[in-house]
Amino acid sequence: MTYDYDLFVIGAGSGGVRAARVAAAHGAKVAIAEEYRIGGTCVIRGCVPKKLLVYGAHFAEDLDDAKRFGWKIEGASFDWPTLRDNVLAEVSRLSGLYTQTLESHKVATFDKRATIAGPHQLTVGDRTITAGKILIATGARPRTTDRPGCEYGITSNEVFHLDKLPKRIVIEGGGYIANEFAGIFNEFGSQVTLINRSDAILRGYDEQIRDRLLQISLTKGIRFLLNAPIDRVAKHGSGALTVHTKNDDAVDCDALLFATGRAPNTQALGLETAGVAIDEHGAVKVDDDNRSSCSSIFAVGDVTNRVQLTPVAIREGQAFADTFFGDKPTKVDYDCIPSAVFSHPPLAGVGLTEAQARNKYGAVRVYTSDFRPMKNVLANRNERALYKLIVDAASDRLVGAHMIGPDAPEILQMVAVAVKAGLTKPQLDACVAIHPTMAEELVLMK
Ligand code: FAD
Repeated sequence: MTYDYDLFVIGAGSGGVRAARVAAAHGAKVAIAEEYRIGGTCVIRGCVPKKLLVYGAHFAEDLDDAKRFGWKIEGASFDWPTLRDNVLAEVSRLSGLYTQTLESHKVATFDKRATIAGPHQLTVGDRTITAGKILIATGARPRTTDRPGCEYGITSNEVFHLDKLPKRIVIEGGGYIANEFAGIFNEFGSQVTLINRSDAILRGYDEQIRDRLLQISLTKGIRFLLNAPIDRVAKHGSGALTVHTKNDDAVDCDALLFATGRAPNTQALGLETAGVAIDEHGAVKVDDDNRSSCSSIFAVGDVTNRVQLTPVAIREGQAFADTFFGDKPTKVDYDCIPSAVFSHPPLAGVGLTEAQARNKYGAVRVYTSDFRPMKNVLANRNERALYKLIVDAASDRLVGAHMIGPDAPEILQMVAVAVKAGLTKPQLDACVAIHPTMAEELVLMK
């Protein structure tokens, strides 16, 4: 049987674009559909614009610290529309580059929503299209809620487009997106209240590192209401909101941001027409070849709810294309995936946390360096960095590395190589330090 395309990809985000481009480079006839903007969450309303806002926000501290380094900066002020518009322009530029990549690989693009109409059949706008294989790469969307008044809140989809900087913002959530935006708005001068239904933030990260972020965030003036789910929201004539928690706290604000997790985009996708099974979270169930319960339909990225990170979606897209169009069977290795939170200060981790390592190995050695970075000392900034290495006592192998402090994600990327490679603590120690750096702490921990 002949099909219109060898491969039809639904969703032009991190995973979909990679799979489409690589499959086309392997010689397949490929099409991709995108219902919003080419580039997907990471480029359009995720990692990229978020990181640019983090950079923009950090100037608040740099400008303040600069005085102690002899700089006189008078009349410095922050203009949200300038940063917002420059960020959005950069996002458009990147989206254009993704479009060009698809074009140069002769991938046919449909600027439309696509749905599945059978094992080899799709509906794209008013057209029916057939394909040998279908790849679902539709990503995830912010979880929303139907508590009274919650329609007045926004999500990470809208936050990059705010007309003006809110003087007071409430953020609901305790994950990385909530903490990153708490830091961003706090640096811009907004009064930030983070409301979380549980008593912990950043579950999954090492406890000592999360505690350090909480302490520093409190010192910077971010308010935390923990164990306090939002009950309802009231809107006033002025446009201001009052957020009521189940504990009877009432917080007035000008904007409410929900950052309460992301749900896989499988709604109304026609999965039932092809017998594609989903799990209890609505994620497409796949095997380790990214194949769904329908043998011609595959899924990669956030829609599978494995690890919701861009580099993982890209690897899954690459592995899928190499396996099925490049005659190069490849499986993604999910062990030791490093990750970061671009909070103020940022934190990052790889491998097992101290608690996980104790559970798994019993005897572990934990090395910590708790120090005030040189720049913070001269700046009179009372903020300490914390680095942690977790070592399996029996083998001396590094099984986890965790850090919070300036540039932690940049530094952790290379430590992650050591953890992934299964290096031992003596091997780390054998490396001579680069002095004076913060990273040198990693080879000096005794
Ligand atoms: P996506 O990139 O979401 O792409 C899916 C695409 O499919 C979308 O463009 C969507 O419009 C389209 N689509 C959906 N349904 C259809 C349909 N039926 N027809 C046509 N098109 C459809 N990850 C990191 O690694 N580092 C970070 O710092 C980071 N920061 C983030 C910050 C925020 C605020 C958010 C929200 C996410 C962040 N992420 C980060 C996560 C990262 O963006 C995702 O893991 C990644 O984009 C997933 O890629 P994907 O290909 O699975 O899906």
